[in-house]
Amino acid sequence: MVTDTQSRKFHHRNISSDLIHDWKSLVSSSIRNPEKLASFFPPDTKREDMRKIDEVITRYPMQINPYYMSLIKGPDDPVWKQAVPHIAEITDFHATDDDPLCEEDQSPVPNLVHRYPDRVLFLVSARCAVYCRHCMRKRKVGHPATINSDTIEAGIAYIREHEKIQDVLLSGGDPLMLEDEDIYKILTEVRNISHVETIRIHTRTPCTLPQRITPELCRMLKKFHPLYVNTHFNHPAEITTESKRACEMLADSGIPTGCQTVLLKGVNDDAEVMISLMKKLISIRVRPYYIHQTDMVRGTGHFHVPVAEGLGIMQKLRGHVSGICVPQFMIDLPGGGGKIPLLPEYIVEKSKKKWLIKNFEGEIFEYPLY
Ligand SMILES: *Cc1c(COP(=O)(O)O)cnc(C)c1O
Ligand code: SF4
Repeated sequence: MVTDTQSRKFHHRNISSDLIHDWKSLVSSSIRNPEKLASFFPPDTKREDMRKIDEVITRYPMQINPYYMSLIKGPDDPVWKQAVPHIAEITDFHATDDDPLCEEDQSPVPNLVHRYPDRVLFLVSARCAVYCRHCMRKRKVGHPATINSDTIEAGIAYIREHEKIQDVLLSGGDPLMLEDEDIYKILTEVRNISHVETIRIHTRTPCTLPQRITPELCRMLKKFHPLYVNTHFNHPAEITTESKRACEMLADSGIPTGCQTVLLKGVNDDAEVMISLMKKLISIRVRPYYIHQTDMVRGTGHFHVPVAEGLGIMQKLRGHVSGICVPQFMIDLPGGGGKIPLLPEYIVEKSKKKWLIKNFEGEIFEYPLY
């Protein structure tokens, strides 16, 4: 329960307006230890939880920048759950594998996952604006030593040598945590490879640090079209004046921006919340791309929502809201089999002459086969 006093306390801590424009100072004033986190809360609460957080962050680092922190209205709200460490990350053995999708096995050079013939996932930064507690790559994020200029050079060389690669996904971590000059260098090298057609940047900054989307960055990104961005919003509370401004700047730069939402227990495992999020996304010109079933990654089991519930939510989207609000619901096959879309069951019965199909309101229609 969030009391009025608690929520007022949060709002007292609004960040000053000059800070809000400078993404680097926002990152450097991030909360990285429980002591600093405690200062955001009434002193008599959560002492015990603070101690637990200390244990968790020795394995999975915490970083909450003041902007994302300002979206939290109280302990355990949907934004808090995504950013504040939870003891279950180290005590829950529901999921035990650090890398169930076998990304490391499918990396011909470190930090470049080549699972599909025509596209690669190229990890160019291990840093993020916030370390999401549900991150499927939490084995890697927040440990910057794992990605460096040598691995980036090796990745570019691999792409250059493999002509089948037409689509390069820059990911991490978050590529936009790099300096503009470093991003420019990577994009220039990738764009100069003649078989590369599209470049995609996977970044959560429009949601977790919208101040990162600057006019200078947009002017630079525009030079590398066709360039796409996929971002990651999970809750309507993340759609703010600042994130709206960031996404509109991307759209105005001709960059189609999609959203990959992760289905998370206690955050968005509710049809009303999901509908509101999807509608708000299209209002800021972001097209819902995927809703991901959580992967069975160690330390994220407490976010797991049964697949059947995810399908139930999809059923409440399709037909009930505009088609542009309806993303695909994806599972990523353990073992590295790739992403597969799941649909609610619409075909009720199949015979040689006709199928019986259920519409979005549950009415049955005959569909003749010729
Ligand atoms: C998700 C993913 C991609 C991109 O998949 P799309 O369905 O094209 O968005 C590419 N490579 C890997 C390893 C991935 O996990
Ligand atoms: S921004 Fe993306 S990569 Fe970084 S911690 Fe969050 S989910 Fe993981």
